[in-house]
Amino acid sequence: MAEKITVEGGKASNGDAHLDELALPNGVAGHKKSPPEPLAQRLKRIARANLLVILTVSAVIVGVLIGLAVRNAALTKTQQIYFGFPGELLIRLLKMIIIPLVVCSLVSGAASIDPKALGKLGGWAMLFFLVTTLISSAIGVIMALIIRPGSVEGGGGLKMDSGESNIPESKEVVDSFLDLIRNIFPSNLVSAAFQSVSSTSDSVHLSDKRDGLVCVQVPFGTDVDGMNILGLIVFAMAFGVALRKLGDEGEILIKFFGAFNEATMVLVSWIMWYAPIGIMFLVASKIVEMDDVGNLFASLGKYIACCVAGHLVHGLLILPLIYFIFTRKNPYTFLTGLLTALATAFGTSSSSATLPLMMKCVEENNGVSKHISRFILPIGATVNMDGAACFQCVAAVFIAQLNEIPLNFVQIITILVTATASSVGAAGIPAGGVLTLAIILEAVGLPTNDLSLILAVDWIVDRTCTVINVEGDAFGAGLLQYFVDRTSRGGEVAELNEVRTEDDDAPVKPEHSPLIEKRDTELQEIAPGARSCEKESVM
Ligand code: ASP
Repeated sequence: MAEKITVEGGKASNGDAHLDELALPNGVAGHKKSPPEPLAQRLKRIARANLLVILTVSAVIVGVLIGLAVRNAALTKTQQIYFGFPGELLIRLLKMIIIPLVVCSLVSGAASIDPKALGKLGGWAMLFFLVTTLISSAIGVIMALIIRPGSVEGGGGLKMDSGESNIPESKEVVDSFLDLIRNIFPSNLVSAAFQSVSSTSDSVHLSDKRDGLVCVQVPFGTDVDGMNILGLIVFAMAFGVALRKLGDEGEILIKFFGAFNEATMVLVSWIMWYAPIGIMFLVASKIVEMDDVGNLFASLGKYIACCVAGHLVHGLLILPLIYFIFTRKNPYTFLTGLLTALATAFGTSSSSATLPLMMKCVEENNGVSKHISRFILPIGATVNMDGAACFQCVAAVFIAQLNEIPLNFVQIITILVTATASSVGAAGIPAGGVLTLAIILEAVGLPTNDLSLILAVDWIVDRTCTVINVEGDAFGAGLLQYFVDRTSRGGEVAELNEVRTEDDDAPVKPEHSPLIEKRDTELQEIAPGARSCEKESVM
């Protein structure tokens, strides 16, 4: 019996839980012989079990249809704002939850994992993030070299609106990297919740013995609007490790952050039920707002197609393949479990805003343990941006082709490396990647004016980009879970078995979330104690 329970626990934590939900009526088929279920009843049960996924995916489709219909009504600017209000509300709700979620999950996550295991887990995660981002960059470059989106005969009128004013200010590459490091170490934690550092050049007059008074441009670090999530992550992790070092004295605070985190996740499960409505209006209002979609597609269609093709290859082939090679499990079952979060990423264009729902999805549908998901996903949502790296590479090659600047091998390698690095610096917010694209253009000496073209279609490219960004994080969490399960079963690597919670021996209490309660009941029905075994397999 003990062996069987371990298998169930392992199964639930390796991406098959979602499949069980589809295949095992009431979670008991395969254990007890029951009469075959009528088709209508089976369909009803599947629909009920996957209600949220069905609602969220339908929301995207209905949103497109509503958007196309409402476009004809030629709404005024004010009416458009009112129309988009339900979508704005979803973004506000998700943003509200980011800081408590990230800080509490990382403090309690870092405090509950043995420092050695923490280093090991973090190291593997970083390696996975780095390799997949590099692969994604390479796909972007290859796609752009094959499709040649910028080689339009006679210019194709592509350079028509290069004069747009909202182009991000270009900075020296070194300043961009220094800003990244400055943000890792915020000088003020409170302001890090809504401000980050970005250097801007200012002229300074210096007296020179030979030339008299000279004017030089000097970079100054200035605070700009936008949450410094990187700084918060680093502080929360360091604080968690410090709490663990305190031993018994730190217990109360660890429990405090743990409880705070749990309560936040309950709030997330409530927000999830509002997500379909919000997503529907986000998509619809974006379509209503667009000036001339047809014209944009006609002139920049090849560029859009190139980015979307790169994202599809990475998201549907490469990431699943990597997952399959290591785990030998069906990656598409894993992907199915993420549908709600992926639709949210598509609707919001923000990895940070998708983070709460992604945590819920990987934990409840794909059986990733809380200790892994709440530790890895906030980091992934901030530093791992496969989709951004891919589209940045396409954009850089596109701009080079547009200006008829041939790229040599060294420049292509520079694009790959800087795209990987600049995707780390990109914030998980809409158009976060376009802002750091200037770093790549500067590094290879390409004109930054053409960024306006990229901005013009970023509202669509950014959606598939964000989907791939969050998908990469989720696969990273799934792989880590697999390694932790495997090592704890085989007992090969002692340190990884040290992943433990603050209340190891306490019975698992159900969270008061409708989704989690359902999962718990199912697991109890499969095998009493299977849930606690899932926990054991992580420890
Ligand atoms: N919107 C993307 C994200 O939130 C970032 C980007 O623009 O590349 O992941």
